[in-house]
Amino acid sequence: MQTEKKDIRSLSKEQLRDFFVANGDKAFRGNQVYEWLWSKSAHKFEDMTNVSKQTREMLEANFVINHIKVDQMQRSEDGTVKNAVRLHDGLVVESVLIPTETRTTACVSSQVGCSLDCNFCATARLKRMRNLEPGEIYDQVAAIDSESRLYYNRPLSNIVFMGMGEPLMNYPNVMKAIDKITSPEGLGMSPKRITVSTSGVSKMIKKMADDEVKFKLAVSLHSAVEEIRNQIMPFTKSFPLPELREALEYWYKKTKSKVTYEYVVWKGINDDKKSIDALVKFCKHVPCKVNLIEYNPIDDGEFQQASEESINAYIKALELNDIIVKVRRSRGKDIDAACGQLANKEA
Ligand code: SAH
Repeated sequence: MQTEKKDIRSLSKEQLRDFFVANGDKAFRGNQVYEWLWSKSAHKFEDMTNVSKQTREMLEANFVINHIKVDQMQRSEDGTVKNAVRLHDGLVVESVLIPTETRTTACVSSQVGCSLDCNFCATARLKRMRNLEPGEIYDQVAAIDSESRLYYNRPLSNIVFMGMGEPLMNYPNVMKAIDKITSPEGLGMSPKRITVSTSGVSKMIKKMADDEVKFKLAVSLHSAVEEIRNQIMPFTKSFPLPELREALEYWYKKTKSKVTYEYVVWKGINDDKKSIDALVKFCKHVPCKVNLIEYNPIDDGEFQQASEESINAYIKALELNDIIVKVRRSRGKDIDAACGQLANKEA
C-alpha cells in the first residue's frame, strides 16, 4: 500500500536541512528549497529552477506541496477584496484585504469554522471545523500581499487574525505561521504590525505573555457584565471576567503592550448605563483602547445595532475617563466580507 506523501511545508528549516544530509546532499540545499517554499511561494517542485532535476524528482517522490488556491475573489465597491480560499482537502475559508489611504490590512482565518459559539457571529454557525495548518495561514497572507501589490501598488502593511476561527484555539499553528510571516525567509513583516484577536481564552493569553510574543492583542469583549457576556457568548462561562482581567494584567505586566477591546453595542442588550459603567471600570485595569465596531446583521434580527445616541453615550463616558475610543465602520459589507459575516456562503 502506498503511504500518503508528507506535506514538505510541515518541515522546519532544520528538518529540511537534515533531510538533504540524510540523502547524501548538502545541508545548504535545505535552505534553497526552504526559500522556494516560503518567500518565493513555489507551488510545484519543477518551479525550483536552481535545484537540479534529479533533486526535484527525488522531492516529488517523497513529498507534496499543499498550497492553497484562491477559488473566488470578490471586490467590494469600497475596495475591500474577499478571497474564498480552497484548502488541499476541499474545505474553504475566507480572507479579506482591507485598503485604506495609507495601509493595506489582511484579515486572515485561523480555523475552518470556529470552536466558539458567539450568538451574533455567522462563522460560529458553521458546523464543520478543523484547525488550519501554518502553511495555510501563511498562504492567505502571501496571497493578499500579491493582491495588494497588484491592485494598490504597495505591499501588505498589517495583518489581523480576525477572520474565521479562534486563533488561540489553534495557538501552535498560529505561532508557526507568524514565525514564517515575520522571518526574512518568509515575508519579513514586523510583528508590531500583526494583531491577534481572541474572544477571551484567558489561559492562552497568559501563555502568549509567557512566550513574550511581540505582536498585538485584541479582545472581543462586547460586555463587561458577566451575565450579558455569558448570554451572547456562551463559551465565556468557562472563562469568567475576573479570570480574563487577571490574564490581561499578566499580559500587560510581561509585554507592556496595550490591549484593544472590540465592542459592539446592541439595542436592548448592552446599551444601558450599567453596561457602560462596567466597561469603563474594566478598562481601568490595564492600559487599553476601545474599538466600537458597527454591527453587521447576520439574520433574524435578534441582534440589532444600537442607536447613535447610545453609541455616543459610550464614547462620552470612555473619553471622560481618558480611555481612547474609536468607532470602526464596516468594510466590504456588500460582499459579506465584514466582521462576523465570513461563512462561506458561495462555497
Ligand atoms: N475569534 C476571534 C477572532 C475573530 S475576530 C475573536 O472573536 O476575537 C472577529 C471580530 O468580529 C470579533 O471581534 C467578533 O466579536 C466580531 N463580530 C462577530 N460577529 C460580528 C457581527 N455580526 N458584526 C460585527 N462584528 C462581529
